[in-house]
Amino acid sequence: MQVIIAGGGPAGAIAAEKLSASGIRTILFERSMDNDKTCAGGIPSALVNDFNIPDDIIQQKCERVRFHGPSGVMVELDFPDGEYMATVRRHEFDKYLRNRAIERGAIIEEKEVFGYEPATDAIKVNYQDSTGQHFWAKADYLIGADGAISRVARMMQADRLDYVASMQEYIRPNPDGMAHWNSVSGLFYSTKVSPDYYGWVFPHREYISIGVGTRYKYAKNISQYLNNLKELNAKWLDGGEVLGRGSAPIPSTIYSEPARDRVFLVGDAAGYVLPGCGEGIYYAMKSGLFAAEAIIDTYRNGHSNPALSYNLRCEREFKYSFNYFKRVEKVAFKSDYTRELFVRYSREPGAADGFLNVFSVKEKRKRSSLISKIQHLIALNRIRGEIKREGLEF
Ligand SMILES: Cc1cc2nc3c(=O)[nH]c(=O)nc-3n(C[C@H](O)[C@H](O)[C@H](O)COP(=O)(O)OP(=O)(O)OC[C@H]3O[C@@H](n4cnc5c(N)ncnc54)[C@H](O)[C@@H]3O)c2cc1C
Repeated sequence: MQVIIAGGGPAGAIAAEKLSASGIRTILFERSMDNDKTCAGGIPSALVNDFNIPDDIIQQKCERVRFHGPSGVMVELDFPDGEYMATVRRHEFDKYLRNRAIERGAIIEEKEVFGYEPATDAIKVNYQDSTGQHFWAKADYLIGADGAISRVARMMQADRLDYVASMQEYIRPNPDGMAHWNSVSGLFYSTKVSPDYYGWVFPHREYISIGVGTRYKYAKNISQYLNNLKELNAKWLDGGEVLGRGSAPIPSTIYSEPARDRVFLVGDAAGYVLPGCGEGIYYAMKSGLFAAEAIIDTYRNGHSNPALSYNLRCEREFKYSFNYFKRVEKVAFKSDYTRELFVRYSREPGAADGFLNVFSVKEKRKRSSLISKIQHLIALNRIRGEIKREGLEF
């Protein structure tokens, strides 16, 4: 059996590692080995544990997160039970994952995939090498791991994904800023920073990623939103140095049938990014792994429909967290008033546990008891009163 993978980001690299470790001939085409994906690089502790990411690849481990509301209110929270959000530098992280796949026997080449065609009992993949020459290669399966604007997806899917536009800078802050963000990430919820998404600060070893996202409707103002976020943090950035800036789309919807026949879409190509959060590395790696496992099952046990088992597995495994964050987005990002409520409410005992658990350990939240639901309603009413008494207008 032979599998071709288009794209050597986290989704493609993990699929290549798993497939080649199982004795399947695996060829991964990556169009640029030097690729440095625009990304804040925040990964949950669940990913570090599930995929054995060593400490030297991790830039920082954030055990705390600060939520900032539109009024300037700030709530600092600990991740549950020693969990955390780590940060990685994508250039380094992706290379590390590709090297793991090479160690397991995967063939990785700098080539760009242009398309595919069905063939008898196989699939033919068209790719271009560095001289611009086109070639065809035959495989049993093709995995499209070619990111948010995926060529493989475009050929395979009739519909299109929706996206959030994003912009981020890597900035070396002043020494006070580096200390301020040491092991703490920041999430900023306000219309000034994003009318329908949020802004972030994620610390790395020697710099921070500071960025914003917004749907395309407001995308023309995105540099202004980023400037507003930088202004809010001027105290920590003054005298600092901008090291780089990038923009990229983040999928905000998923395909209903990401795999069909001999073609599998994984990671961003399938739209597997947590809605209202933008977290996609974990889901890229999990979906890459699931696609590989479905193919391995066919290779070893003759399972007849790996595409179907992949689709069902992704749905089963991702449904809870995707629905959870969709609800958060719908309720909390409606207006500055609801953002303020969300941030203030998160400091109530247990209120943010679900949010932090779903992010860091991917655990389903236990159903709240009636008593705790009533307690939370009382707390919400108290917070509404607080906002009114402070005379805040949004
Ligand atoms: C500003 C920003 C911040 C983000 N922050 C976070 C974060 O903090 N945490 C998080 O979890 N997620 C974050 N994300 C999302 C995350 O970056 C993606 O979900 C993740 O990179 C998806 O991995 P992937 O392997 O599916 O795709 P990618 O990482 O995009 O990898 C695709 C690879 O395919 C290659 N490629 C593309 N086309 C072809 C082709 N035709 N032939 C060959 N190779 C090809 C590309 O060069 C690339 O290396 C962020 C995204 C953005 C834009």
